[in-house]
Order: sequence, then structure tokens, then C-alpha cells
Amino acid sequence: MAKKGRAFSGARPTGRQHLGNYLGAIKNYVALQDDYECIYCIVDLHALTTVEDTHNLRQNTFEMALDWLAAGIRPEETIVFVQSHVPQVTELHTILSMVAPLGKLTDLPTFKEKVRQQPDNVNYGLVGYPVLMTADIVLYKADTVPVGVDQAPHIEFAREIVRSFNHRFNTKVLIEPQMKTTEVPKVLGIDGREKMSKSLNNHIELAATPEETQQRVMQMVTDPARVRRYDPGNPEVCNVFSMHKVFSSPEEVEAIDRDCRTAALGCVDCKKLFAANLNRHLEPFRARRAEIAKTPDVVWDVLRQGARRARVIAEETMEQVREAVQLPPR
Ligand code: SF4
Repeated sequence: MAKKGRAFSGARPTGRQHLGNYLGAIKNYVALQDDYECIYCIVDLHALTTVEDTHNLRQNTFEMALDWLAAGIRPEETIVFVQSHVPQVTELHTILSMVAPLGKLTDLPTFKEKVRQQPDNVNYGLVGYPVLMTADIVLYKADTVPVGVDQAPHIEFAREIVRSFNHRFNTKVLIEPQMKTTEVPKVLGIDGREKMSKSLNNHIELAATPEETQQRVMQMVTDPARVRRYDPGNPEVCNVFSMHKVFSSPEEVEAIDRDCRTAALGCVDCKKLFAANLNRHLEPFRARRAEIAKTPDVVWDVLRQGARRARVIAEETMEQVREAVQLPPR
């Protein structure tokens, strides 16, 4: 079947993936493969802007790739690779940085947030992050970038850089990427307050054992106003209920919605049901993951093979870019 276009997405190597990663990105990555020629990149260079201690970088890259493959990324069609394995991206980053307005870069909300988060490590990489991100996308001539709404300013910025480059060098070499805004649900952690995140230790790992998963689920914060078992609850403010909506059947969701409000259902039973449904949902993923993990070389080979395919596209683009910029022939 003819594909609708070429989609690119990158994610930092954060190691074993959690439910937030799954619902916010991986699920969508898998689905996009049916309609788009997909290129998925583990952006290890981007990670260096915030990770000071890199001793886990390789392992995190491996674990993340393993989770992607187990979740249904199909490397025989989709290109899966590591950013630093395609050095052309740093060359394009340098060239694009010449048309990237510094004032705008330092004005982006994400940059300001990072400055707040790590005032002692405001490095050049943080400022240039959106330029490297633009290079990632346009190097592979991706016309579609699936993003959550919070990433919209970066893609708009990428489009601006592409227009500036094409205008300044009187070319049409680079393609303006289009945003494909996806419904990224805000997945809260087990604390029921903050976004699910490994650094906050409020996450539930996809690859956890059923017992570990149940343990984490039992720690989930529910409706804070429901103190005693016989207090009626309000599912609308309860994170466990939000999760039921994703992983439980419509009949179960309806019953929970009804019985929570009358206190016919207690939070312990409600959580046990969620843990059971979640474990059932993750069973095939965990089986595939365990199978692939038996031969780690397969994962690295997928990444190497992906990088080989990515480099072919990257070099074609760079030949055109060098020509447009009039860099001396090699
Ligand atoms: Fe939340 Fe379920 Fe408890 Fe209601 S019964 S407050 S939905 S955990």
C-alpha cells in the first residue's frame, strides 16, 4: 500500500520505558508504521545536553531500543537507529546554525525551562538543541513529524530555519516538515500529581514483572477526598480511573464509575482490577521482550542496520546541501 509520507521522530535514550512513554509515544510510533515510511531515532547527542553522568548512556540506548522492538516497531520496514551513528547530522547542524536566529533560540520556552532546571550547566548544546532537532528532521527529508502540542514551537522553528536556508541559498533542497499533532494523553505518575517520569520515581515500567507492577499500582494515589472505605469517591479526579479508561473494558469502566460513587467499590479492589488488566495487556510485550533480550546482538544489529540505511538518505541530502551552500567539492 502506498504510504502517505515519511515520518520522523526522535526520543532521548531514557532506558526502560514506562507507561507514560508507551501511551505518549511508542503506541503512536507503532500505529504510524501502517500509513507512513517511518524513521525513529534514539537521540543520544541530544541527551548529552542534560545528562552529565553518561555511564548509563549505552545501556539506556539498548533498553529503549529493546522496548521499541518488543512493542511492535518493525525494523524490516522502519528505520530505527542511533543519532550519533549518522555523523552527517552534526554537519547539517553546523550549517543550519548559520541561519538560526540566536535571539529566538534563547527565547524558546523550553530553553528557558532548562536554564531554570540546570542553572549551573547552561551549555551551548541547550541553545542549539532546536537546530540539531531541525537537522534530525530535514536530513532525512521527513515531511511529517508526530508531536505533542508542547513540541509545536520547535517544529514551527524548524520550518522557519528551512525557509531561511532555502531562501538564503536560493534552493528547494530542504523540505518544510509538517506537524502531525497527536493526542498525547497527560499520563500522571503513581503520585497522581506529576507527569509520569523516571526521575521522579513515580513510573510503572513496561518491562516490570507482574508482581512489581501490582506493587506499584497499589501505591497509586486515588481520589484524595476519599479517606475511608465507605466514603463515596469521585472517579473524575482519580488517576487509577484514567488508567482504567485505557486498559479496562467499557463495561468495567462503566461499573467502576458507578460503584466508586456509591462506595460499593473500594480503592483496593479497583486497583487490583487495574493491575490485572494492565498485566494482561503487557503480557505479549513482556514475552517478546524476554525473547529478544536473549540475543542482545540482534538489538545492536538492528540499530547498526538502521544507521546504514539512514546514512544513505543523509548523505544524499548533504550532497545537495553542500552544493547549495557552494562548499568546495570533495
Ligand atoms: Fe479511584 Fe477506583 Fe478508588 Fe474510585 S474506587 S477513587 S476510581 S481507585
